Amino acid sequence: MVTPEKTCQVPMRANKGCGRQLHDGRHCIFHSERADKDKILFQQELNKLAGQCRGHLLDLNGFIFPDGVTIDAIGPAKIHFYNSIFQGKFVFTHPKIDSDLIFGNAVFKQGAEFEHRIFKHYIFGGKVHFAGAEFLGEAWFRGAVFKADTFLNAKFKKQAVFSAATFEKEVNFSEAKFEKPAGFFEVKFTSESRCRFERTTFGASADFRSCRFEGETFFCDSFSQGKTNEKIDLSGSQISGSFKISEEKNPKTIIRREIDFRNVKFLDPRTVKFEKINLGKFRFSGTDVRLIEFVDVEWDRKKRRNRIRDEVAPDPLTQKFEYDLIAQVYRRLRANYEESRNYPEAGDFYIGEMEMRRRIEKSFFNKKALTLYRWLSNYGESWICPIVWSIVTIFAFTFGYLFAGLSPITLNLDESPRNFIRYAPDLSSWESLISTAPKISDLGRSFLHSCSVFLRFAIRTPRYVVVNEGGYILSVIESVLGPVLIALLFLALRRRFKR
Ligand SMILES: [Zn+2]
Repeated sequence: MVTPEKTCQVPMRANKGCGRQLHDGRHCIFHSERADKDKILFQQELNKLAGQCRGHLLDLNGFIFPDGVTIDAIGPAKIHFYNSIFQGKFVFTHPKIDSDLIFGNAVFKQGAEFEHRIFKHYIFGGKVHFAGAEFLGEAWFRGAVFKADTFLNAKFKKQAVFSAATFEKEVNFSEAKFEKPAGFFEVKFTSESRCRFERTTFGASADFRSCRFEGETFFCDSFSQGKTNEKIDLSGSQISGSFKISEEKNPKTIIRREIDFRNVKFLDPRTVKFEKINLGKFRFSGTDVRLIEFVDVEWDRKKRRNRIRDEVAPDPLTQKFEYDLIAQVYRRLRANYEESRNYPEAGDFYIGEMEMRRRIEKSFFNKKALTLYRWLSNYGESWICPIVWSIVTIFAFTFGYLFAGLSPITLNLDESPRNFIRYAPDLSSWESLISTAPKISDLGRSFLHSCSVFLRFAIRTPRYVVVNEGGYILSVIESVLGPVLIALLFLALRRRFKR
């Protein structure tokens, strides 16, 4: 027969059993799972335990804290809360805790409120370790000061608020899961901080507005996580340290949610890097992107050019498109890509810039001129457009001359005008149209004439002349169109291959 254990066997630090006197027949007062356990007794025993511990480790592993218990511990160098369960809101009595706090795999059933009622915020002077911790209620860390912390793999079931907090050293939110909004408004990551958000899941919105990223910051595979359309907002932030956003695992994934990167200020833009990510959902208005580094990134492409989110969807607040700001972003992106000698993409952004200019153009004449410029050569960026238009022009005028009439130039006045060309198509029926269709040879001659007018600036000795006013007007128009289209062709070729 096995005799029941006389002491509590819950493993504590170094896997040693708790060894305390039993309270409910199985566990001690600290480890008892009973909901109605004596709270006052728990508090007295806890105070005694904390009071005995000076300068050492306070081992509270696996404790089940009833609601309302406070922890008054300023002495120990380390406090362990591994696997502890907090049934109520968690409260420290002192606003500044210098001990290292280890909350690995702890469960906060009502959430945690690391906000002091009197002193407003906590200062964590030691390391804070929340790896694997679970916050079933709201987690409030507003204004807290962290020296070094990890929230690796922590789970926030309700909203988590870190607003106005300061992170001074290591900050690790990798693989953390925020199921509800994550608030990092006005958080400061100091120059010594090393902040990582790798494979972090933002299940709802994430608010990083007006943050100051002064240290090393890395967002990796975090923006495409979470099946939500709620945005990640970094607008108004200030970045002065090294900063990288990357989707290494799925660089081609089109991110579902909007990423607001508007009005972000860089103190040293050359340390900012976007790598292996589709930037189609990024807003960039008001952010100077000229010197930041884009490596292997994709954009939202439509009508053979790259677009930023600001152009695709209006400002969520004003429901308006700020075309002048969008044009500015495209101009800066063009400068950025030209700097890295990526001329085709720089050209893409130039088209975007001109397109925005056309949309905001107030003058009717300028607007039409820009529209024509776009039609003829996609703002001087397309060399295919002028070629197509040249072919269309030469063929259209070929038929024009056929019907207006052409006569070969001859110095022999006695020669009969057998090569005189003029057709009048009879459109009354198919048969009559076919019988009045031009001969191939005449078509060829008219085509040659059209070419010579198109290139009149180069070919000065025509073989044919027009015979009436109509033909003359056609010649004038074609001889103007020719040089314009050829100039546009050369401009586009020059832009593409040599800048
Ligand atoms: Zn125990």
